[in-house]
This record gives sequence, C-alpha cells and structure tokens, in this order.
Amino acid sequence: MEPAASTPIVLEPTGSALEEAPAKACPRRALKEHDLPGLVAAFEAQGVAAFRARQVYRWLYAKSAASLEEMTDLSRTFREVLSREWDLHVLRTCHSEISRDGTQKWLFGLRDGSLIETVLIPEARRNTVCLSTQVGCPMACSFCLTGTEGFVRNLSFGEIMDQICQVRIARPDVRLSNVVLMGMGEPLLNYGAVVRAIRVMNDPEGFNFSSRRITLSTVGVLPRLERLLEDVNVSIAISLHAASDEIRSRLVPLNRKYPIRKLIEVCRALPLPARRRITFEYTLIDGINDSLEEADRVAQLLRGIPSKVNLIPMNENPGIPYRPPPEDRVAAFQARLRAQGVHAVRRATRGGDISAACGQLKGRR
Ligand code: SAH
Repeated sequence: MEPAASTPIVLEPTGSALEEAPAKACPRRALKEHDLPGLVAAFEAQGVAAFRARQVYRWLYAKSAASLEEMTDLSRTFREVLSREWDLHVLRTCHSEISRDGTQKWLFGLRDGSLIETVLIPEARRNTVCLSTQVGCPMACSFCLTGTEGFVRNLSFGEIMDQICQVRIARPDVRLSNVVLMGMGEPLLNYGAVVRAIRVMNDPEGFNFSSRRITLSTVGVLPRLERLLEDVNVSIAISLHAASDEIRSRLVPLNRKYPIRKLIEVCRALPLPARRRITFEYTLIDGINDSLEEADRVAQLLRGIPSKVNLIPMNENPGIPYRPPPEDRVAAFQARLRAQGVHAVRRATRGGDISAACGQLKGRR
C-alpha cells in the first residue's frame, strides 16, 4: 500500500535556497553566523583588526568554546565589547536523550522558535554527528517521517555549525571523527549555507575534518549535485532505494523530475578524487523494493561506478504503513548484490528506541 503524501511536493528549489538564510527574528548578531571572511568584514567595519577575527574564529569552531570567558587570549575589554554586541550561540538545547546503544539525540530550539534534531552516533572506531540542514523537508519521501511532516525553512550557516559545537560542548568525552549531513532536510536545497558550512568543517583552522569524513546525503537534486564537487570537497551519498523508476517515484517523489537514468549519468560524471566511492543508500521496505530482481537491476545500474551500497532495513514510523522485510530477505538481497560484485554492507540501525534512527527525526518533543 502506498501512503498518500500529506504535504505538497516542492520539486523546484527556490532561488533563495542559494542565498544565506536571514536571521531576521533576532535582535543581536551571532558570532557563529560567520565564517572567517565574514568575521573579518564584520570586525573591520567596527575598526577591529583582522587578526582578532582569526582568534575568534578558532575559538568558535576549532575549540568550540562554551562561553566568551573561555577566550582567554582576547583582552577583557574586547570580550566585553563582544558580549555587549554579539551572541555566541545560535542554538538552545531543549531536550536530549540517550539510547540504550549509546546514540544521543538533541532537540535544539532556533531563535525563531523552530525545532531541529541532531544525533551523535558513537561507535568503536568512529564517532559520527548527524546534522540537520532544514527545518522539516520538502522532499516528501513516503517512508520518511521528516518528509511527511512538511517543510518550514532552510537552516542558516550558524544553525548548521552550532549543531557540531553544541554536541562537542555537551560531550567533551567524545572525540568527533565524522560528520554526516543526513538529519532533517535535503542539504542540496540549502546549497549556499551547506557549502559554506562544509568549508569550515574542512578547514584546518576550523573543525578540521578530512573530506573523507564529511558525507552529504541527497535524494539527487541534479543541478546542484553536478556542481557540488567543484565548490567543495566532500563525500557523497545518494538515496537510491530502487533501480526502477516506477518504484523509486513512489518512494522519492523527486524521481519524477530527475529519473534514475539521469541521476546515474550525473553520478558517473562526478569528478571523484582517487579511491573515493559514492555511497548509495538503499532502505529496504517489505514487498516494495526488496525483490531479487530489483537487486539485479541495482547491480546492473551501478556497474562501473566506484560505489558502495548501504542497506538499511526500514525504520518504522507511526502513521507510515511500510515495514522492514524479514531478516532472511535482507540477507538474500545483500547476497544477491555481492554475488554480482557490488560492495553491499548493512548499516546497523542505531538509536531506534529514542526515535533517532534514519527517517525518524521530526523536530518535536
Ligand atoms: N534528504 C537527504 C538527507 C536525509 S538522509 C536524503 O534523503 O538523502 C536520511 C537517509 O535515511 C536517506 O537515505 C533516507 O532516504 C533514509 N531514510 C528515510 N526514512 C527512513 C526510514 N524510515 N528508514 C530507513 N531509512 C530512512
């Protein structure tokens, strides 16, 4: 059965998606709305030397300072000027929960009252933070809770950056090693802010994550995907979920605009760095996209693309009538892909007991 999409489908990103989201509602400026050039310009306009901007920049991101008082290499007078005119943080922690498996989820309040969720996934060999890029999501994928709850707005640069800072401040015991743009929203519909954020994540004087360890996940907004690797160095994950248009269009409405053939053409042409692969995410849904014939079509489709397939048995959501397939069907699907040379791995579901798993974020308490 196919659930009716409860929200209008916005297929065409608006022009404003490329611009910075304005932080209209807030009376005071926020330091974390700025990258280094932005801080230099803002400080210079107030007659403050550029080297001060560089100092503050390191405190904001590299050191993720919790307060202005921590910024001890700034003079007391300058810190006072900063505290009079600027806010340090843009997010307010409303709620946080820890799963039995150690996954932690935060509900953050934005300055206009909107809510977003961010997830920390600690593992033996890496600690990943999963960031939101929009309040809600306009893509309306039929199996995803975020997508069925509608779209409010793009996050600003600072609202993306501060998710990392707040997680680091709350969990000094955890060293973050990976960032995934896989939370609420479609990152390529918030292109300007997302690209600037990735640059600071990548910057040795910013968060200093290697580009292998920053992954942007997209349903495939092709005009943006085509130019992404010219603008920024990042790993790419594509939400594939089916190899036939008929099935994919039911799951991912954007497929009607950018069908699989075009998506794969763009993937083949991406200027990937040496030894880098594209990840294809495949959420397995009982009776919908889990047949062995579909596995054969996936193998055929990906032939010749440096790729890896992440199989995710669907996480169930209230009000969404899809289910994960039985365990033996998941195993059979994976085996069928592997038999044809596809590097297919199963992604363990994390944080399901606190609704922090893929497709379960809703930005409400
Ligand atoms: N909009 C982007 C970023 C969200 S990433 C994108 O779609 O790629 C979240 C990943 O989780 C996507 O691959 C999405 O399709 C998948 N997902 C959504 N709902 C899910 C669910 N209920 N179970 C498992 N995976 C789901």
